[in-house]
Amino acid sequence: MGDTFQTVVDRDATPDDAPRLARAVVDLLVAEGIVLAEAEPGWALGDDPAHPPGPHWHRAVTDALGGSPEGVAVHTRHHIFYSSFDDRWAAVVACPCCGTGLRDTALFSAPIDRWYRTGESDVDCPACSETVPLAAWNWTEDHLAFVHLGFEFWNWPRLAEEFRARLGRLLGGHRTAYLTGKV
Ligand SMILES: [Zn+2]
Repeated sequence: MGDTFQTVVDRDATPDDAPRLARAVVDLLVAEGIVLAEAEPGWALGDDPAHPPGPHWHRAVTDALGGSPEGVAVHTRHHIFYSSFDDRWAAVVACPCCGTGLRDTALFSAPIDRWYRTGESDVDCPACSETVPLAAWNWTEDHLAFVHLGFEFWNWPRLAEEFRARLGRLLGGHRTAYLTGKV
């Protein structure tokens, strides 16, 4: 059957604000009973510690019926998040300066490697020649996100739109992306 994930990421958090923002969100989720305060291993894929669902986890989702969610892993270091990608669609990434969409993403492979190692890198736009930070490029359907803060919900029923919007407000109105998939 596999495991599903839904990740809400903060596209604007810097390495310095990520831990503070993460704490603010987790404190609220704990206060509302959506997750438990102590993150433990075994509730997410791999060894990442994750917050187990709380007694009111169903308040975060559209349809709780039959749901059996696992944990919420909170990432506060630079991380590459992705959505499971349907091969019928080509990846398109758009330059935030000129809006040009690129189908050939080979240009991104070295910058993605560099970002993975350091949390920083740029891509020169072939259309407008601007040097654009990798994290600022806009991927179709939130295919990829290069961020310093992400909340990964494992095997939760679909998160309610209102809940996701509230996370965005808690993150100071920062831009968010929503990445979903299956492993
Ligand atoms: Zn451009």
